[in-house]
Amino acid sequence: MKKTATRLADGRELIYYDARDDAVRDAVDERPLDPISTRSEIRHDRLIGDDVAVASHRQGRTYHPPADECPLCPSRDGRLSEIPASDYDVVVFENRFPSLAGDAGRCEVVCFTSDHDASFADLTAEQAALVLDAWTDRTAELAQLPSVEQVFCFENRGREIGVTLGHPHGQIYGYPFPTPRTRLMLRSLAEHRERTGRNLFDDVVADERSDGSRIVLDGEHWTAFVPYAAHWPYEVHLYPKRRVPDLTALDDAARTEFPQMYLELLKRFDRIFGEGEPPTPYIAAWHQAPFTADDREEFALHLELFTIRRTSGKLKFLAGSESGMNVFINDVPPEAAAERLREVASK
Ligand SMILES: [Zn+2]
Repeated sequence: MKKTATRLADGRELIYYDARDDAVRDAVDERPLDPISTRSEIRHDRLIGDDVAVASHRQGRTYHPPADECPLCPSRDGRLSEIPASDYDVVVFENRFPSLAGDAGRCEVVCFTSDHDASFADLTAEQAALVLDAWTDRTAELAQLPSVEQVFCFENRGREIGVTLGHPHGQIYGYPFPTPRTRLMLRSLAEHRERTGRNLFDDVVADERSDGSRIVLDGEHWTAFVPYAAHWPYEVHLYPKRRVPDLTALDDAARTEFPQMYLELLKRFDRIFGEGEPPTPYIAAWHQAPFTADDREEFALHLELFTIRRTSGKLKFLAGSESGMNVFINDVPPEAAAERLREVASK
């Protein structure tokens, strides 16, 4: 893997990740861009104890542009995009419309491929491995920023999820605090340790493996299952068998096996609802330990993949109970979801 860092015309950082060690990335951003002005502010909710990022500059962001104006395609044929090069493998750059910026963290965009019409599931194992390298490198790099406490690599896929650009891409948020979901996990982890002396993540994965009814894929170095109390209609958690706190600690064996595991899960997601159904909208979310958490080494890196589609043509909306009270109602029993995800395995 070769990494080449450069700057866009407005000063934002852009990094190419190339599979070939002799790749040359010297194209210059020739767009007349105004300097970025971002006003991102973190406000603390005293009743709930969580934080809200208020980012008013985002209202003007690019919204469903036509394919020939895609800002994530390479710059070609006189058309200038966010990526100065005429082609690329994987590229990461600072978001021009960040939800978090400056002291309030950092937002980056990850383009998985220069092919506008592909999706992550279409990538080769080599391409997916390069994306994993990029996520890992960004986690290590953002750890160096004083404004970043936790790194969240994720992909929103599909218009139904609110994706405003069709080009296959994901995002990386560097939060200035440990996120609420991670804080809850760390609290459960501490309570379990206190009560049993054991690691909660290890016990959860071991229990799923011994039960077996919700296992979706069992590799040599990774296990994928629908969790016992899945919140979403179809939800899969993917854990490396050797527990590590974040992507930077994954060993080579796990890194090598990851692409085939993840690509297979994504392909199965697209088959859940049968032939002729549009691609399944999903969110893929990497959970990583915050950098300064006391129990950092106890945390288990894992990926949570889920869809908001509950049946053909119907979406699960976060309505009164979910949005008003944080109580999820799941219409699909997790065991049935797991069975479906096994049925649609690649032959
Ligand atoms: Zn594109």
